[in-house]
Amino acid sequence: MNVPAHAVVTGGAGFLGSWLCERLLAGGASVACVDSLVTGSLDNVAHLRGLPGFRFVEADVSAGIPVDGPVDAVFHLASPASPLHYQRLPLETLRAGSHGTGHALDLAARHGARFVLASSSEVYGDPEQHPQRETYRGRVDPTGPRSMYDESKRFAEALTVAHRDVHGTRTGIARIFNTYGPRMAVDDGRLVPTLMVQALTGEPLTIAGDGSQTRSLCWVGDLVDGLVRLAASDESGPVNLGSDDERSVREVADVILRVTGSSSPVRHVPRAEQDPLVRRPDLARARTRLSWTPTTPLRTGLARTAAWYADRLAGAAATPMGA
Ligand code: NAD
Repeated sequence: MNVPAHAVVTGGAGFLGSWLCERLLAGGASVACVDSLVTGSLDNVAHLRGLPGFRFVEADVSAGIPVDGPVDAVFHLASPASPLHYQRLPLETLRAGSHGTGHALDLAARHGARFVLASSSEVYGDPEQHPQRETYRGRVDPTGPRSMYDESKRFAEALTVAHRDVHGTRTGIARIFNTYGPRMAVDDGRLVPTLMVQALTGEPLTIAGDGSQTRSLCWVGDLVDGLVRLAASDESGPVNLGSDDERSVREVADVILRVTGSSSPVRHVPRAEQDPLVRRPDLARARTRLSWTPTTPLRTGLARTAAWYADRLAGAAATPMGA
């Protein structure tokens, strides 16, 4: 798959962004990774710094994107993404989706570059349609506990469509479903890092409610390939990207117990307010228009992820406090 010669990745020091930077560099692109480090970390791109073609630009995209030189593609990923983060940073999240998306679109338009928006399955809210197709308009509470994130993404999509209509910007919208893998922060609060760390440290695995709610978890390498394919196409989207291998949260916990060899017990805790009951993308559009489909089985991806967290936790244990 061709990669753009000169790419800008906002949110490039986060979980998905760092994988995307790596993938683009491996394909021969030069990459400007723009990040404020509000939820990301330089550790995520430490292995890329010093590589020819990679540069890190510390900036808040809501204030502007100070990147010069040629730009062929702008991947806009900068936004708090975990409920723990966006509920702590509601105004910053809304600004990243509004002002930040505006700056990223303007940058792409100035250079005649391709623009890819990292939107989210959260635009569907707690869905009544299952699986979720791109034509489904969603069920989002505009003043509810997830509204700062859901509405930020919905606004970002609307702005992207308007920019395309008014300025002819070559935009593509990806609606990303739950994705997992190495480099999700240990304290990120999302399902996989939480259960993984609990399993590896022998703590009880906290399962919200009875664990029958479902998620469809996509391996990060597959997801990043989908973003690169979207950038290489003329598709405006929105296009769902994720896995359609739907599992109950309880099943995910069982696989994590198996791949970590943990004997942690399970502890049930109350479900978060407005936590979606079901989640599964309809991937027909991604398959037909991008020839993309996720290929990594859940168990394989979770085993790789477990190895990374085990290393990470061993490193943390070996580092004296305050070092
Ligand atoms: P993450 O928190 O690991 O990464 C987000 C990155 O954006 C961080 O490095 C953070 O410092 C940076 N950032 C946030 N606000 C910024 C700002 N104003 N200026 C500059 N940098 C800023 O989260 P992630 O899981 O890698 O998510 C990346 C993108 O993908 C987000 O837009 C998220 O909404 C979207 N997404 C992710 C998932 C998923 O399952 N991981 C699902 C749906 C959508």
